[in-house]
Amino acid sequence: MTDVQPDHATATHALAVYRCAVPAPLLTLLDYLPPLNSQAAPLPGTRVWVPLGRRTVIGIVISVESDTDLDRSKLKAIDALLDAQSLFDSPQMALLTWAARYYLHPPGEVFVLGLSPRERRGEPTAPTGKPGVKLNARGIGLPAGALSRAKKQALLLTALQHRPHSLEELADQGLSRAVIRALAAKDLIEYCDIKGDHRWASRDHLDPTEEQQRAITTINSKESGFVCHLLEGITGSGKTEVYLQCAAQVIEREQQVLILLPEIGLTPQMLGRFQSRFDAPVIMLHSGLADSERDRHWAMAREGAAAIILGTRSAVFAPCARLGMIVVDEEHDHSFNQQDGLRYSARDVAVKRAQLSGCPIILGSATPSLESLRNVEENRYRLLTLSERAGGASVPSKKVVDIRGLALEAGLSQPLLSAVHSTLSAEKQVLLFLNRRGFAPTLLCHDCGWLSTCDHCDARLAVHRKPTELRCHHCNSKKFLPRSCPNCQGSRLVSTGLGTEQTELTLQRLFPSFPVFRVDSDSMSSRHAMDNLSQQLDTGEPCIILGTQMLTKGHHFPAVTTVGVIDADGLLFSPDFRGEERLLQLLTQVGGRAGRGHHAGEVIIQTHYPDHPLIQAVMNQDYGVLARDLLNERRRRGLPPVGAMAMLRCDSTDFNQGLAFLSAIKAQLSRDSAIVLIGPIPAAMARRAGRYRAQLLLLSSDRRALHHAATQMAWVADGVKKTGDIKWFMDIDPADSA
Ligand code: ADP
Ligand code: ZN
Ligand code: ZN
Repeated sequence: MTDVQPDHATATHALAVYRCAVPAPLLTLLDYLPPLNSQAAPLPGTRVWVPLGRRTVIGIVISVESDTDLDRSKLKAIDALLDAQSLFDSPQMALLTWAARYYLHPPGEVFVLGLSPRERRGEPTAPTGKPGVKLNARGIGLPAGALSRAKKQALLLTALQHRPHSLEELADQGLSRAVIRALAAKDLIEYCDIKGDHRWASRDHLDPTEEQQRAITTINSKESGFVCHLLEGITGSGKTEVYLQCAAQVIEREQQVLILLPEIGLTPQMLGRFQSRFDAPVIMLHSGLADSERDRHWAMAREGAAAIILGTRSAVFAPCARLGMIVVDEEHDHSFNQQDGLRYSARDVAVKRAQLSGCPIILGSATPSLESLRNVEENRYRLLTLSERAGGASVPSKKVVDIRGLALEAGLSQPLLSAVHSTLSAEKQVLLFLNRRGFAPTLLCHDCGWLSTCDHCDARLAVHRKPTELRCHHCNSKKFLPRSCPNCQGSRLVSTGLGTEQTELTLQRLFPSFPVFRVDSDSMSSRHAMDNLSQQLDTGEPCIILGTQMLTKGHHFPAVTTVGVIDADGLLFSPDFRGEERLLQLLTQVGGRAGRGHHAGEVIIQTHYPDHPLIQAVMNQDYGVLARDLLNERRRRGLPPVGAMAMLRCDSTDFNQGLAFLSAIKAQLSRDSAIVLIGPIPAAMARRAGRYRAQLLLLSSDRRALHHAATQMAWVADGVKKTGDIKWFMDIDPADSA
C-alpha cells in the first residue's frame, strides 16, 4: 500500500495523544490532545503551548502515543505549536530521558536544560551567524564605478561585490553604520546573517612525549566508538596537549568536541590554547556569557557550526549535531556537581552522553576521583597514565612546618615568611593557599562570649573589611559590624580566626615593594577578573598570589616556584566521609601549582599536626597510592563509590513538619534486606536560609536494588499529602552526605 490518503494521516493525528514534559514538580509526563485548529502534527522534541491548571505553559513533546490510559474526554488540547522541527537530537533526547529517570527528577525541569535561554522563554532559536550586509538584486545589477563620487560608499560597494561582509568586519575597515545606512536607503544592499567560515583545520602541535603518544594513539584508535578513558597525569604532565591532539583528529573528521571545565575562570585560558591550535570555530558556553551570546553559541553547537565547545557543567546538556569526543578536565572537581534543581554530576552525565553518542570520552585529572578509580578497577574505564612533567619541568619538593608554639603573623610562620622573602628576592612568584575568605570567620565578645550568628542559618557570620560588614557564607545575608556587644554592651569584640583579607593586609605590610593578588570568590566575582590576573601573572614579575581553593583548579602559573599552605589543619577534621579524599586532592593540586615552568618548586605545609597520618601520607607518597588505600577503606565500610547511596531531602519552615513528612514516607516503603535505611534525621546544618532541612538516607552494596528503592521512595513522596510549604527532592549519588 503506497498511496496514503491525506485524510487518513489527519485521522491518525486526530486520535493521537501527545505526552509532554511540563514545568511543574511532577515525576510524570502529561497527556494532551492534538491542537484543535491545526493540520500540522507536533513532533517529538518540539515546544508547544499547553494549558496547565489555570496557566498556559511551554511544554516539550516527548512522545506521540496512539492511546492513553486516561479518559480522553478529560484531556486538554495543545494550544499551539512553537517549532516545526525537533530541538533535540536523538542521543540528547535519550540523555535527558535517562537523566530524569536516573536522578528521579521532574522531566519538565530536566528537558529545559537542553534549551538555550531564549528557547526556554518560548522564542525562536537564535540565528547562528553574525549580522551583516550583502548586495540586493539592484545592487548586483549596478555598473562598476556607479558611486565614484561618494568614496566610502564606493568602497563598501566594492567590498560587497566581492562577498557579503559582517558589520564587525566592515567597522574594522573603517566603514561606519552611516555609510551602510546610506547604501540601504538607495536600495542597493540588504541586511543578512553571515555564517562563519567552514574550514576546520589544526595547526602545528608539540612533539608528544612517549607517554602522551601512547595515550593519544589509544584514544584515537579506530576500534573506538564509546570508550571511557581515565587520563591520570600529574599536574604539568601535559594532559591538555593530549586533549588538543586527540581533538585535532576528531576535527579532521568534521566532528565536534565538547570540553567540560570545572569553572568559568578556567575557560579563557583553555579557550586561548584551543584557539591558537585550531583554525575552526571555538565557542564557550557558561553562565558568565550574556544571554544573547549564549543563545547564538547554543544554536551553533546544535547546527554543527561550532567545532569545539568549551563549557562548564551545564554544557553537558548542550545540543551537538555531530559529537565526536567529550573531555572532562579536572574530573575530580566538585564544581561538576550541581547542587540545586536537578542534582547531577556533570562527569557522570558526560560519560552517559558519550555512551549514547557512541564516541570516546576522556576524564583527565592529577587526582582522579575514587569513583573513576573504582570504574577502572571494574574494567569499565581504561586507565592512561602520564607520570612525568612535560617540557622538562621537575616535580616540586615538599616540606612540613610544625607551627606548634611558633609565633604567627596573620597565620604566617617565620620559616614560611623567609621562603616567601627568598623567592621574591630571586624574582619568582609565590602562591599562598588559605581556604577561608573574608577577614575572620568569627566575631566574639571577650567579656560575655557572645558570637555573631546568622539569623537564618545554623552558622556564624564572618567578618569582612571590604566592605566592612558581617556576612553569612551560606545564605549571603549581611549585618552591620557592631561597635559594642549586642548582649552585654561590652566593647571588647574580637575577630577570631583567619581569612584571606587579613593575611592580604599583613603581606602588603611585610612586602611593600611587591604586589599581592588576592584570589577568592569576593575578589574574582567580575567576568574577566581571572583572565586579567592571568595576564599579569604571565609577565613573570615577582609577586604574591593569595587565594582559596579557586587556586587549586587547573590554572597554569608558570613563574610560581613556592607554594605555601597556610592552614592545613582546617581541612583535617571533616564530618563528611569524603573529607580525606578532598584534603588529599586539595594538597596535591595546590602543590602541583609549584614549579611548572623551568624552575624547581617547593611546597610548604603549615600544621599543628605534623604526625597526622594524612599529612605524613601527603609528604611521603603520591596521590595514586593513597587514593587506592582510601578506596579499600571505603570498601570495608560499604561506602560510595563501592556502596551506592541516595537521599531524599526535604526542607520546610517548620522543623517538625519536615520530619513528619519523611516519617510518613518511611512508613509506606516496603522492606528490603539489601537496603539500609537511615532517618529521618536533620541535616548537618539543620537550618539554612530560614528553612529546616532533614533527610532519609538509603545505602546498599547493590546499585540496582538501591535505585529500585529510591524510585519507590520518590513515587511515594510524590503521592504523600504535603502540609505547609514542604519541598522535597532526591539526591542520587549525593556529592555531600552531611
Ligand atoms: P596538565 O594539563 O597536565 O597540567 P599542560 O598540558 O598544561 O599540563 O602542560 C604543562 C606544560 O607543559 C605546558 O606549558 C605545555 O605547553 C608543556 N607541554 C606539554 N606537552 C609538551 C610536550 N610534549 N613537549 C613540550 N612541552 C609540553
Ligand atoms: Zn558581650
Ligand atoms: Zn545565613
